Amino acid sequence: MTKTAYPWGHEGRYNDFPSYFKSRFSERIQKVSIDAGFTCPNRDGSKGVGGCTYCNNNSFNPEYCSPRKSVTEQVEEGIAFFNSKYKAQKYLAYFQAYSNTYGHIDQIKSLYQEALSHEKVIGLVIGTRPDCVSDEVLDYLEELAKNYYIGIEYGVESANDEALLAINRGHTYREAEQCILRTANRGIHIGAHLVNGLPYDSKEEMLEHAIRLSKLPIESLKLHQLQILNHTQMAKEYEKDPERFYLFEFEEYLDFIVDVIERVSPDVMLERFINQAPPGWLIAPKWGIKNYQFVNKLNNLLKERNTWQGRLFEE
Ligand code: SF4
Repeated sequence: MTKTAYPWGHEGRYNDFPSYFKSRFSERIQKVSIDAGFTCPNRDGSKGVGGCTYCNNNSFNPEYCSPRKSVTEQVEEGIAFFNSKYKAQKYLAYFQAYSNTYGHIDQIKSLYQEALSHEKVIGLVIGTRPDCVSDEVLDYLEELAKNYYIGIEYGVESANDEALLAINRGHTYREAEQCILRTANRGIHIGAHLVNGLPYDSKEEMLEHAIRLSKLPIESLKLHQLQILNHTQMAKEYEKDPERFYLFEFEEYLDFIVDVIERVSPDVMLERFINQAPPGWLIAPKWGIKNYQFVNKLNNLLKERNTWQGRLFEE
């Protein structure tokens, strides 16, 4: 295949998310994170308690992000933080912490509206679980999507119910699939998220999960390696029985991601491949690599293996 023949219209060897954003918006777009004070059904007792065993929302919440502040305050502080770095840009309010469609519809509408009322906010990205999205919420998001960029990110995490049970996820893979199908064809940008390395998931199964998801009507896929974080249930389990966890070595993971890229659908944008918990939170694996460094190494390896997204994809 020649470089110009890649179906996503640029010379990169995979269908990357930043290029899509650059082609869709004339200005630089940045996400500002919001913690709007939601919870999750596997935390509040409706499906379970304790949350997912690996979860520690504090490990990724930026400093300006706190449910003690209003949405407007968090948007303004987030914008001030990024404004000092980059001029002239617009923002997407990223409802990131916990399950951001899990609440009464009036509360949900009022929080989203508050974010969208900021003159520099052009849309929303909403992180949530596949078992927490009512048709009422989807209808509302469909309406918003007529005037704003609306993205919803579903935490699918694994297509193996045994793994989902082991991490106290509280939903099945089938629920995730059904939810994605209910969200499709509404003008809402659908993203899905998988974790590589959960207990009971073999490497072959992880690969298979990414391929399966890429055949669903999603626009983007985020992957990341399992990280064992401090102050989590998983940290206790890891201390007791480390053999139970498949933690990738860095080079092995890089190679695995190339295997994934060449087998997933070329139509799905790939948004992210690793997580970077701050060093103080991270127990294992300690790769010490930043996202841009990973992307550089990935591009080199794709070139070295002379492969690209979807090269081995089968309909
Ligand atoms: S659903 Fe998300 S926020 Fe809630 S406990 Fe699980 S990982 Fe944490």
